Amino acid sequence: MSEHSDLDAIEARIAAAATLAGRKRDTVTLIAVSKTHPASAIEPLLAAGHRDFGENRVQEAQEKWPALREHYPDARLHLIGQLQSNKAGDAVGIADAIHAVDRSSLIGALAKAMDASGRRPDCFVQVNIGDEAQKGGCAIADLPALLTEARAADLPVAGLMCLPPADVDAAPYFALLAKLARDEGVEGLSMGMSADFETAVTLGATHIRVGSALFGTRG
Ligand SMILES: *Cc1c(COP(=O)(O)O)cnc(C)c1O
Repeated sequence: MSEHSDLDAIEARIAAAATLAGRKRDTVTLIAVSKTHPASAIEPLLAAGHRDFGENRVQEAQEKWPALREHYPDARLHLIGQLQSNKAGDAVGIADAIHAVDRSSLIGALAKAMDASGRRPDCFVQVNIGDEAQKGGCAIADLPALLTEARAADLPVAGLMCLPPADVDAAPYFALLAKLARDEGVEGLSMGMSADFETAVTLGATHIRVGSALFGTRG
């Protein structure tokens, strides 16, 4: 059904990685990360039948997506960037999934926004898997308590998310996130980007976030 050469190429690579891992293709959601790219770059993917997209800023999502959704109401929007608590209401208003739930204050703000709006986007708890000061995500040691809190607040906890350290092999970090998910009884794994999504698929990713390999490099 697709008619988009970059999408077709990525799809083929996902399918090959899934086969290698003995997984079915439909257990992996490809999130096309369209941050910084205009609607004109997104529309060909929608026209080719692709439906899952990622943005990292709430304001940019609000600028681009309402118009795109008029034509493609079944498009699903994933917010993948760090989220300020004061943006929780806007995030819940526009997103189908939020991949950066990483602290108590945000859990509280999201729960409040969900109760107020009746919308309940899937939530992924982000783990600071490489223990890097500049990155979002909760410390590994804090994950069990944060998950307990998210569940108690009735957030739809769909999985864990990570952004491993740059420029080193991501595989050990993906494997660690998968182990944490198993230990904590969480199903989803949002991991893998343009440079390493095949590795992520072989290690159990359920959601891969691919930007530059689909849209070209960001300016
Ligand atoms: C930008 C971004 C991506 C996509 O990165 P590419 O290397 O362009 O595929 C994935 N995840 C997050 C959290 C991002 O901010």
